[in-house]
Amino acid sequence: DSRLQAISEAIRVVPHFPKQGIMFQDITTLLLDPKAFKDTVDIFVDHYRDMDISVVAGVEARGFIFGSSIAIGIGAKFVPLCKPGKLPGEVISEKYVLEYGTDCLEMHVGAVEPCERVIIMDDLVATGGTLSAAIRLLERAGAEVVECACVIGLSDLKVRRKLNGKPLYILLEPR
Ligand code: 5GP
Repeated sequence: DSRLQAISEAIRVVPHFPKQGIMFQDITTLLLDPKAFKDTVDIFVDHYRDMDISVVAGVEARGFIFGSSIAIGIGAKFVPLCKPGKLPGEVISEKYVLEYGTDCLEMHVGAVEPCERVIIMDDLVATGGTLSAAIRLLERAGAEVVECACVIGLSDLKVRRKLNGKPLYILLEPR
């Protein structure tokens, strides 16, 4: 796809953020390029248009940016998966392990109906820990997780195994 080159070039790599040794993939520069941003959303919309998806669930915060646009594009609802304490209503929550410590994702009870077909969107997958927690959360709510989608997949062979057997749709795999 000829659009992928421009999308890739619009993503800035920031060395040593948020800590020494990390090459941070900064998608905010992609958002500054209206054509590359729209092309990114369009590629996902084309991929999911005819897959009978009724829910796009996005991971806070960068999964909201792409996920909500894709939801509008395919005529699905958007469900935010949030860090603890951000959602005002009754929530279900799912903890996950990070390199140092744990984190948690929360979703409003009733946001998803049992058996709804869901895709989960984030900007980037590294270990897959975040998306795995998101899958568990949606499945506990009775949803059918069809696929996880990310703009960027960091080369990590462990990822696919950690995604609970769910397919992963990735646009870019930087080395
Ligand atoms: P994982 O749980 O797969 O190890 O990490 C993925 C999560 O960390 C995503 O929510 C993603 O937004 C964030 N993340 C980790 N590294 C980067 C990075 O280099 N760039 C961006 N934009 N997000 C990152």
